[in-house]
Amino acid sequence: MLAVAGSDSGGGAGIQADLKTMLALGVHGMSVVTAVTAQNSLGVQGAWELPAEAVRAQYRSVVDDIGVQAVKTGMLASAGLVEAVADLLAGTDAPVVVDPVGVSKHGDSLLAASALEAVRRELLPAATVATPNLDEVTRLTGVCVQSEDDLPRAADAVLAFGPRWALIKGGHLAGDAVDLLTDGTETHWLRAPRHDNRHTHGTGCTLASAVAAELARGRDVPQAAAAAKAYVTGAIAAGFPLGGGIGPVDHAW
Ligand code: PLP
Repeated sequence: MLAVAGSDSGGGAGIQADLKTMLALGVHGMSVVTAVTAQNSLGVQGAWELPAEAVRAQYRSVVDDIGVQAVKTGMLASAGLVEAVADLLAGTDAPVVVDPVGVSKHGDSLLAASALEAVRRELLPAATVATPNLDEVTRLTGVCVQSEDDLPRAADAVLAFGPRWALIKGGHLAGDAVDLLTDGTETHWLRAPRHDNRHTHGTGCTLASAVAAELARGRDVPQAAAAAKAYVTGAIAAGFPLGGGIGPVDHAW
């Protein structure tokens, strides 16, 4: 499985979370690094995107020789990289999980506002599954989710941009951690009890990677989403207090 995403030097989110998830779920992990962040439990202290040429070269090296069974995209930083990655994905038959990463839990921007239109127009149509959280839903579609009842409307608004499935992550709502998976016909509510643990850095990256890892292993989308939800719920429950801020989920729980 291939993750196309940004590096988190603190190891809780980004490419590091993706690779740990792939190891935990028994698939061979490969990475195309799109950006490097200087980051720890307190936030993002700096971020640098790689040239589109470097992203294209990493992708070609991996795909042309080794091949991929599933791709996950995460932090893409700029409109230029979103367009470059969408262009590369147009040539793959593998399922693609698009995590439209926008802003970190600490409020650090991981995607330029000027890239939103490229995400809507070019990246989401390439997705087998799009996995926005509630902030990303609002930024991409304008739909504001206040409660579980709003999740179907949010999913419809995301599906309108062309992904086959939308997996709306409702974890920021109060109460149970509820996500909604739908392709517009079939609907699955994924529900887990809320763990009273603030060490949740990397949750979103981990869920999206777990979906892609399960797809790489041959599961269908509803099975992959259910297995990924169980994995991320365990990782949140086991999250640990590293650093002085929000610690990482535990990928090896
Ligand atoms: N850093 C990178 C490189 C990421 O891709 C992401 C999320 O997608 C984050 C940080 C944010 O992680 P969190 O919001 O869980 O703290």
